[in-house]
Amino acid sequence: MSPRLIFWTSALVRVALVVLATVFACYMWGMVYGLLLGFLGMCVLFIVQLSYLQRLSEWLDHPASARLPDGWGAWTDIFSRLYKMRRGDEKNQAELTEWLARFRQAMTLLPDGVVIMDDVLFLEWCNPSAERHMGLSLAQDKGMRVTNLVRSPEFIDYIILGRYETPLTLSFRDRKLIAHIIPFENRRQILVTHDVTESERIDMMRRDFIANASHELRTPLTVINGFLEIAAMQPDLDIATRNAHIKLMTEQGERMQRLVDDMLTLTRLESVDHPLRPDRINMRGLLEQILQEANALSGGRHEVTLECNGPDIRGSTDEIRSALTNLVTNAIRYTPEHGKIQLRWLPATQGPKFIVEDNGIGISAEHISRLTERFYRVDKSRSRETQGTGLGLAIVKHVLLRHHSHLHIESTPNVGSKFWVQFPASAVVE
Ligand code: ADP
Repeated sequence: MSPRLIFWTSALVRVALVVLATVFACYMWGMVYGLLLGFLGMCVLFIVQLSYLQRLSEWLDHPASARLPDGWGAWTDIFSRLYKMRRGDEKNQAELTEWLARFRQAMTLLPDGVVIMDDVLFLEWCNPSAERHMGLSLAQDKGMRVTNLVRSPEFIDYIILGRYETPLTLSFRDRKLIAHIIPFENRRQILVTHDVTESERIDMMRRDFIANASHELRTPLTVINGFLEIAAMQPDLDIATRNAHIKLMTEQGERMQRLVDDMLTLTRLESVDHPLRPDRINMRGLLEQILQEANALSGGRHEVTLECNGPDIRGSTDEIRSALTNLVTNAIRYTPEHGKIQLRWLPATQGPKFIVEDNGIGISAEHISRLTERFYRVDKSRSRETQGTGLGLAIVKHVLLRHHSHLHIESTPNVGSKFWVQFPASAVVE
């Protein structure tokens, strides 16, 4: 039955009952009593309807808190339909609240900044990434004009010109950002910011690396080409000069070889396809080998000593050999004749340490933090003289990173240097 039909049927049934009662009373007790009873019946019906209306009005004042009133006749249907509507509303509201919470959480986790502004650029909402990128604070800045908050001339120009088809690359608060404004819904606008500081830094490092590597390779190549040209133009060079040229060319060839080897080692150490394959490293055996090689390199010009009290560790033997050899080789190369070089392998509760101490030329403080950068040298000509590639300490740093270890450097110019490697206690093999 349709709601309308129910309503009218129940109303008519009630009126019909009153009319019937009136007719019956007229017949039984006379006209006056009959009409009086009819009038009273109508009044009761009217008061009942008013009381339902009043209950409905009370419920409408607090629809969520109050229980739905009980009804009779058509009111039952009205109340049950209102009840269904309320349940539907509550369900929609709950779904909407949940969806909003999820949306907020997703926006909070987003690495890109999102700012919603109204048509006159007043801040309506922004996520934490936007707060970080643009220095905003939603709690304090809500309702303020974004151009007053982001005080960057490039950004303000971008907004004033309104050429939003192309994103803006912006340097702001030591960060490099790509900002893009997207107009939406009734002249509101979304500002999206993407932080490219890190990728720019990596790009710059890559460019620097290529420039440095080309520069390093160009010098020996120029020397070799020069001698080859002389050999081609002067075929009757005396044998002594020719041999001297061949010796110099061989040296330059070896230099290029060392450089390429070191570059390949670095690339391998950084590559994700080259995971660490740890095994037990016999530290005494390894350090005795390194000592022998150090003595060979020194050719008796230095006093090299080894103290070995530390435990064996787990790690890649080849990588640890290469890192420790680099440190020891540097100590020999940067220590003048008759200098002393002490190698120590010591146990410690926070993990074993390898220390290389020399009394060589030393390094002044301003260079120390940069020594592990690729191709960084304190004195370029001295490093070339000592056949350095400028990549040794960068290799050490990468090997140690892969072994969760750290390099520490202490040095005083003209007094000497101390390079020590702190291995973690977890690396020790009992
Ligand atoms: P290089 O191949 O030039 O030696 P490294 O990366 O091994 O490159 O070292 C970087 C720079 O650190 C060297 O050029 C040198 O100036 C300085 N250095 C490294 N070890 C020592 C040391 N024991 N004493 C003095 N200077 C050192």
